[in-house]
Parts: sequence; structure tokens; C-alpha cells
Amino acid sequence: MKKSRKIAISTVNDEQIVEAWFDQNSKQSFRQSLLKWFRVHRREMPWRESRDPYRVWVSEIMLQQTQVATVIDYFRRFIRQFPTVQRLATADEQSVLRQWEGLGYYRRARQLHAAAKMIVAEFEGTFPATVDELLRLPGVGRYTAGAIASIAFDESAPILEGNTVRLFARLMGLTEDVRVSKTQKILWRFSERLVPAKGAGEFNQALMELGSLVCRDRDPNCRACPVARSCVALSLGTQREIPVASPKFEYESIREAAVVLRRGKNVLMRLCQPSERWAGLWDFPRYPFPHGDPVSNLTRLIKKDSGLDLELDEERLSLRHAVTRFRIELKCYGGRVRSGRLKRNSAFQWVSLHDIDELPLSATGRKIARSISAFF
Ligand code: SF4
Repeated sequence: MKKSRKIAISTVNDEQIVEAWFDQNSKQSFRQSLLKWFRVHRREMPWRESRDPYRVWVSEIMLQQTQVATVIDYFRRFIRQFPTVQRLATADEQSVLRQWEGLGYYRRARQLHAAAKMIVAEFEGTFPATVDELLRLPGVGRYTAGAIASIAFDESAPILEGNTVRLFARLMGLTEDVRVSKTQKILWRFSERLVPAKGAGEFNQALMELGSLVCRDRDPNCRACPVARSCVALSLGTQREIPVASPKFEYESIREAAVVLRRGKNVLMRLCQPSERWAGLWDFPRYPFPHGDPVSNLTRLIKKDSGLDLELDEERLSLRHAVTRFRIELKCYGGRVRSGRLKRNSAFQWVSLHDIDELPLSATGRKIARSISAFF
């Protein structure tokens, strides 16, 4: 470090923070320290076994909003089922969603599938190699494009995701909310200035690994940090107060009711429609928890939607789960059909208990399916 950081940072505005950091630190020695550390501490991951852009892409999409430890098994199964972009492009959406089941944020899976079709149709099956081309794919934003272009094709592309937001904010001592666009611009500019012309893939992975293993969210391990001498937050003792981030959203508690309606060895399932929370997945018939008597009101609602006259039992199962900003309490009722036939072209379908294993289900749908004996 060339000057007193405390003085420099207190006298610059947000727009100048990036330049102040680069004035005070050597990019070269920062990169060397980081890469030296990474080559010793790099974790083995199944998607790091090659630089195949397809594998990098699948892993990056899975890692959005999901922890590494959870992604590893999903990634292995997904690649076993769809080893190439061509195999993914020709798969039916239900089998893609079945492989994704449990990872949540199913829009990612649908966009991955749509992007695979686009690669085959518009890029003749050759994976796009530049940030500009990658940005044309559904579900690929600036971060994902930068990660694929740098890791698979060694383009000198910057990245910015959860780990690097935290790392960069601490390195610069940023005290602004990292979710606002002004601060995001500063963070991207920092990443652009830092990424090397050659070896960007390894460098970007090293940044993310450092953020994940050392510059951790709650307890940054500054003693083990290879770039500690370039860290403004450490010099000011503010590393635990940074990054500053406004809450993403307020959680909302809601109550819903699901019905397990049986006929012989079949149960009534419903395909979630495009505008719904679990579009493309199957679920047991589900409704906002009705006012008044739940049993008679659910009986009426299902009859209206499906055409079936039924007899419902009392509540058999209660589940709690979280989906995005919702905290859901789900009450589950069992029942039998008394009369009637399913309306034509409705989203409902009778499914044998055996076949439920093959269907992509909502998270709670799978929990109910695993407890199905409670309803028989
Ligand atoms: S010194 Fe601490 S706060 Fe700064 S980058 Fe390293 S781990 Fe993060």
C-alpha cells in the first residue's frame, strides 16, 4: 500500500473509491497473492473437472440462489441425464424439471432448456464463446456470461456475484447499500479494472473462492486472507459491518390448503399453469386457505374446477415451507370421489401412485407424496 488508506478513503466520494483503491494498491501483487492462495486452497468441484462451457453454464445456473454443497449432487445427476447441450435441447420439459426438482427457482430450469434449444437452432450446436453472444441466451445475465466466457474461453470478462460483491465492498471499504444501482456500478467497475487480460477464468474463480472460504459473510477470516494488506475494511475495522445491504423483501406468511383425492390406486394431480408459482410442475390440488368451513369450501372449489363430486376428510397433515418471499403453512386434506368425471382440458389428471415418482412435483407436493400413506 502506498499511502494511508484511512485518509484517502475519507476524502473521496463513491465515484472515486475505485480509482483510490487502484492508486493505493498494485494490481499485479494482488493478483499474484490471490492466485498463489487459490492454487493451494482450490476446492475440487465436479464442474471444475473440465472447461467444457456446457458444464460451466449448467453449474453457474444451478449456483444462482443455491449453495455449492446442495448443487454438487444435482449437477452430477443432471449431467448424467443430459450430458450435452444437444441432449438437453431434445429433452422434454417435464424430464428437465424432474431433474431440477428440489433446487427451487424453476424458472432457471425452463430458461436453461430454452437456451439449449436456442444454441442448437441458432448457433448450430456450438456453444457461444463471447459475453455478447452469451447475453442473447435466456437466463444469462452479465455475471453468468462473464463467468462462462472467462472460465471456458478465457475472455477477460469481469464477474460480480454474491461472494465478489462482499469481497470487493470490503476491499474498498464501501459503506453504501450494495443493492442500489449506483453501488453496483462501482462494484462492476472495480471488477473490470481487476480482471487480468490473460488467465481471467482462474482469476475469477479465485475471487469467488476467496469470498466463499475466507471473506465469509458473518465471520471473515482476515488472518488467513492473502489480500489482507489491500483491504480498506480491515484497516478501518469495519469488515463485519460491510457489505451494507437493504433487505431483499419482507417475508409474507400465507395459509394454503391441499387435497389428496384418491380413486383406487390413483390420485388427482394438477399441472401448474404458466402464470403460477410452480409453472410446469405437478402439484396436489391446492387453494388459498378458504374462509369458513375448510372442508365444505374445498369440496365446492374442487367440484367447480374439476367437475368431481367428492367427500373430504378432516385435516391429515400440516406442512410449513418457504418459497421466495412467502412463508407458507399448508394444511392437507384427504378425500374420495363420489361421482362425476374430470372436465375436459382441465389441468387435472389422475396419476397412479407408482407414476408420481416420475413427475416433477412442487417441493410440498413431493413431501405429501412421501407421506401418502397418511391419506389411504
Ligand atoms: S481482510 Fe478480511 S474483510 Fe478484507 S478481504 Fe480479507 S477476509 Fe475480507
